[in-house]
Amino acid sequence: MRELVLNQRAHFNAGATQNLAYRKELLIKFRETLQKNESLFLEAIKADFHKGAFDTYVTEFAMIYHELEQALKNMKKWAAPKRVKTNVLNQPGRSYIYPEPYGTVLVIGAWNYPYQLSLVPAVSALAAGNTVIIKPSELAAHTSKAMAYVFNNAFSPQVLYVHEGGVEETTELLKEKFDKIFFTGSTKVGGIVYQAAAKQLTPVTLELGGKSPAFVFPDANLDVTARRLVWGKFLNAGQTCVAPDYVMVHADVKQKLLEKMKAYIQQFFGDNPFDSQSYIRIINERNFDRLTGLIDKEKVYYGGTCNKKELFIEPTLLHQVSFDDAIMQDEIFGPLLPVIEFTALEDAVKKVRALDKPLALYIFSKSESHIDYVMANISFGGGCINDTVMHLANSYLPFGGVGNSGMGAYHRKFGFDCFSHQKSILKKGYSFEPLFKYPPYTFDKLKWIKRVMSVS
Ligand code: NAD
Repeated sequence: MRELVLNQRAHFNAGATQNLAYRKELLIKFRETLQKNESLFLEAIKADFHKGAFDTYVTEFAMIYHELEQALKNMKKWAAPKRVKTNVLNQPGRSYIYPEPYGTVLVIGAWNYPYQLSLVPAVSALAAGNTVIIKPSELAAHTSKAMAYVFNNAFSPQVLYVHEGGVEETTELLKEKFDKIFFTGSTKVGGIVYQAAAKQLTPVTLELGGKSPAFVFPDANLDVTARRLVWGKFLNAGQTCVAPDYVMVHADVKQKLLEKMKAYIQQFFGDNPFDSQSYIRIINERNFDRLTGLIDKEKVYYGGTCNKKELFIEPTLLHQVSFDDAIMQDEIFGPLLPVIEFTALEDAVKKVRALDKPLALYIFSKSESHIDYVMANISFGGGCINDTVMHLANSYLPFGGVGNSGMGAYHRKFGFDCFSHQKSILKKGYSFEPLFKYPPYTFDKLKWIKRVMSVS
């Protein structure tokens, strides 16, 4: 492992990745490698959790291809030094920001979107001129193996290497000195990674989870709201970091929303979702047991059927839920949707604020005052007004959390910047300079410096 990191660092230090043509070659090869091996990757993800071709294309491959295209198209512009204003004190002079690659970076992925969460950051890191070690999640064992097999055959380990392993291997890897660590996963493990990085003063981006609420107001279009909530929640069987974790619905429209959500579950997945080709499985027994333990049978409004052998949990709606229930204590990360009613918005917002800052938040309303109130009073990573999950699919928006849901952000240019240090440069000539900044200091000089420094 040490040799791998040292070799990558030597390659970086030799200046290879500074060259934009070389970076471009790497990204083109990356795209070809992905294209050539799509069917192998599809088989692997099907074996991991029954994820089909449509789901995989939309939520995994499409995002990686998009990032590759964007990086190939814009890399030169993103990597170029940018001229910025120079203040009066530094005149005559020019100021620039030079983005420079960090060096050797480690990308640790989560299992729920195993390709996208490992490969999108890797694309940004390569575009920014870094060498990359990817550590995919061991829980999605087939996709981890497929990525290691495919990418380690296509790329020199000096520039890109997929290192498989679980807790033990990651712990060892984290003892090495990296120039940047990009982690996607739970808040708990994010803390472990952050501590390990701190020992080496390594900068980190943490893409974590949390309980993401969806607010539904009486003036919302309930039909569209129900469709978008059901889609966002049961996509990937609820195993999505930005899935609406729970619904806060106004008491006046609660019953109607429940009925409509039930109808959309039936429309999307049929009366027997077990047979649906559009519905996937829980990743493993541990998560299956954790999730089934959260189903309070008395509170099931719809669904609730489970099959341990097949790791299947039906899309399930729960009602009459309160903030004290077990299901409201941690991120659910599965196909269970608790619905909590509210009457006074201020109280509802207070309850949400009492929990950790969510990764996402959704508001369904036509009223600017409702929207403004929620936006102004709850801190969260990002979200949508009148939709769920889709903000993630607009790469012009930075994607990341805040507080316990993460730090830093990526996607497109934000991804490039996430893997770049912004080097600040002031360039001066030899002609004029204000001599009053030099000693010996006098009262007159102080008067001048005060005047000049107050001008930007
Ligand atoms: P996890 O934290 O268990 O694992 C993530 C990675 O950390 C894996 O590669 C794993 O091997 C490694 N790991 C696990 N334990 C470790 C330890 N003790 N020391 C070092 N490394 C360790 O998370 P998960 O189960 O793979 O993913 C689910 C969580 O990730 C959810 O909370 C979800 O919300 C979050 N998530 C966030 C995003 C995001 O973009 N913000 C995306 C997907 C998932």
